[in-house]
Amino acid sequence: MIHKCPQCGADLPPDEPCQHRFDLCMALEYENPTTFGAVHHLTVACYMLQHNAYSRDGWLGARNIIARFIQDGVTPGKIRQQNHSRFDSGHRTWSVTKGAKFSEFDTILYGRAQSRMFDTLIPKSTALT
Ligand SMILES: [Zn+2]
Repeated sequence: MIHKCPQCGADLPPDEPCQHRFDLCMALEYENPTTFGAVHHLTVACYMLQHNAYSRDGWLGARNIIARFIQDGVTPGKIRQQNHSRFDSGHRTWSVTKGAKFSEFDTILYGRAQSRMFDTLIPKSTALT
């Protein structure tokens, strides 16, 4: 039986919520930083965006950064360099995760993109332990 994630709408097995898949990705990144770690900047931001886990300002900033990664081919290093003062916690007047959430989140239709991404990254036989 398929379970639908209430936040992102991904179709998942009932005993395997998105959080478990995300945690597995983080474990794979830790174990294989060269391969899985190479997409950390996409994995975390996409998960956070799709689950409205950022503050409103954090959500909008992450969405713009993801677009630059994907559409413009900008590297994480270049993004860090260009946004150092904006995201530096010593200078930032806003929180990346705390505060008002992106209120338009529920109007976004994500479909199955996340599920497909995780299906690609994680073989079906791999399970959290
Ligand atoms: Zn989800």
